[in-house]
Amino acid sequence: MNEVQLTIDEIKSIARDCLEGHGCNAANADAVAEIIAMAEGDGCHSHGLMRLGGYVAALKSGKVNGLAEPFTQQLAPAVIRVNGDSGFAPLALKCGRQPLIDAAKTNGIAALPLVNIHHFAALWTEIEPVASAGLCVMACTSYKPVVIPAGGSKPLYGTNPFAFGWPRGSSPPMIFDQASSVVARGEVMLAAREGHSLAAGVGVDADGNPSTDPDEVLKGALLAFGGHKGSSIAMMVELLAGALIGESLSVEAAVRDNNDGGPPQGGEFMLAMNPELFGDAQGWNARAERLFEEIVAQDGARLPGDRRYRCRREASENGVRISRSVYNKILEL
Ligand code: NDP
Repeated sequence: MNEVQLTIDEIKSIARDCLEGHGCNAANADAVAEIIAMAEGDGCHSHGLMRLGGYVAALKSGKVNGLAEPFTQQLAPAVIRVNGDSGFAPLALKCGRQPLIDAAKTNGIAALPLVNIHHFAALWTEIEPVASAGLCVMACTSYKPVVIPAGGSKPLYGTNPFAFGWPRGSSPPMIFDQASSVVARGEVMLAAREGHSLAAGVGVDADGNPSTDPDEVLKGALLAFGGHKGSSIAMMVELLAGALIGESLSVEAAVRDNNDGGPPQGGEFMLAMNPELFGDAQGWNARAERLFEEIVAQDGARLPGDRRYRCRREASENGVRISRSVYNKILEL
């Protein structure tokens, strides 16, 4: 058997126990375990249990504060900054989420810059609760330089994911969440672990030659999706999650990082908007639903997020199959 069957609760408690065993307090361990379990439940294995090794390495090396006590600062009526106290991002996000929602509901728009955090997660886990509270929301974060700017030759950008969520009343929100690279680095790590090759055009080896070998691409660099267009999105993420909020660019984060395999220290940017306060309180929802209906009416087209929601329904009934190699690594930890 190359797979192990686990329930979402089992995944969460394995992750929580492991993190507590390596120095996280209950609040930090619980926040990280929750997003790991969410990722596994939604079929996003590259951001699930596979990441525990990196989280643990960052605790062991002392880079990340497992006892972090994030705190908020109101910088302006609609700008709430969270300082993550050098902990993992999930607890900082929990701390800032309700103040962001409240400020956006009141002001129409509000921003949540997060600084002094270590980010290793899938962004949809973070914006879904905000969209479910009735807000449009977007988020982005940088990493360490692994993506070459279009036309260039050296990694400069992180894989810099950008996510957008749209509220749909009592239905799950529409969410897309994508790296600015052709694929997320987690997918390359997963391919390396499971022995698959990559599609052509994903990355290059350490000498800059195109490669489909995930181990070689991990030593080399990834390419931005859509050439110069994805490259500009990656640049925007560096500006929003770095320059705008007083946090590091990916190149700066790399200089400070101890390369223990865990996430570097950096920032995240989140923006929320209240559709009730943008001039069409009666019509915004119907117009958006019309768009969604027209998308799914086309053969072969679907809404982003629908694959995850389908996985979630299946996982809540049948649990999740985890690769044996990932499971064995967790047991070692
Ligand atoms: P994918 O390319 O797998 O998917 C990107 C988005 O496109 C998803 O929202 C997906 O929805 C949607 N999608 C995929 N296929 C279709 C389709 N045929 N029609 C409509 N929508 C579609 O994701 P990436 O590899 O780019 O990123 C994976 C994850 O990695 C993200 O969650 C990201 O946040 C995370 N990441 C985190 C980083 C960090 O530093 N913390 C760095 C980089 C990435 P669905 O999920 O439903 O398939």
